Amino acid sequence: MVYRGRFAPSPTGLLHAGSLVAALASWLDARAHDGTWLVRIEDVDRPRCITGADAQILAQLAACGLRPDAPVWHQSARNGAYAEALQRLIDAGWAYPCACTRQDIEAAWRARGMPRTRHQALPYPGTCRPEQGGLRGRPARAWRLHVGRIVAALDLPVPLHWHDRRLGAQAQDVACAVGDFVLKRADGLWAYQLAVVVDDGAQGVTDVVRGEDLADNTARQIVLQHALSLPTPRYLHTPLVLGPNGEKLSKQNGAQPLDVRDPLAALAAAATVLDLPPPRPTLQATLHSWIEAWGQRWRLPDSAPRRAADGGPAR
Ligand code: GLU
Repeated sequence: MVYRGRFAPSPTGLLHAGSLVAALASWLDARAHDGTWLVRIEDVDRPRCITGADAQILAQLAACGLRPDAPVWHQSARNGAYAEALQRLIDAGWAYPCACTRQDIEAAWRARGMPRTRHQALPYPGTCRPEQGGLRGRPARAWRLHVGRIVAALDLPVPLHWHDRRLGAQAQDVACAVGDFVLKRADGLWAYQLAVVVDDGAQGVTDVVRGEDLADNTARQIVLQHALSLPTPRYLHTPLVLGPNGEKLSKQNGAQPLDVRDPLAALAAAATVLDLPPPRPTLQATLHSWIEAWGQRWRLPDSAPRRAADGGPAR
């Protein structure tokens, strides 16, 4: 079986204890499947990226014994591929330009008598859909995916079901929950959803192993994979590390960069989150011996490859 996994950090800061969990899990999963492990630097959101953070992230990973098996990709060098994918969607009638600001979206929902739900972004109300009259003379800001048309044309199930190797059965009605999501942003930058799907496809990624905070994007990404005739990888979302305030550890809430002067301590903490105890003390404590030992223990109930006939994703 071909296995290609990836770790896809955004260089908006250095790795922290939470990101090492996802990195270690994707590395172990690739090793357990005799697969290839890729690292992709997701630097599409240029204004949020920190110069030099990519090299520092790679150095942090290397200090922990996690080295990619192939040259590292940078999304900032992939404009052509994203533009081509967007053009294909436009040609199919599955992407359309949108003039709405956030205020416009809120106003459209207010006009429909739907108050803003707290803590949750509002789904796009479809104001600029071609069948609603399109831009109506307003300047285009962003490009959106016409989810409803794709679901109808490709006869995708509603809600869309997908399987997570740790979390189990998942489902989301993308049209209802998020609506026509953005492919190219109003500031001209490529949206994460488009870049990640195009690159997972181009790199032949068979297995996405990443933090649970990203699980909610998966149904959107599967719709986009169908729209671009790309295979759906298997998914495994890893547990999050919580900070002292009980919130997810993240760069935004001030997580400290990973201290790789003691890589064994950093790895042991990440492994504990993955339910992998430190190897027996008799084992000589070297980076290599520890990650090899964890690699042997890395088994998940559902880690066997799933075939379409088993109800797994069609390849
Ligand atoms: N670049 C994303 C992040 O750092 C991860 C994307 C992914 O793994 O799909 O949060």
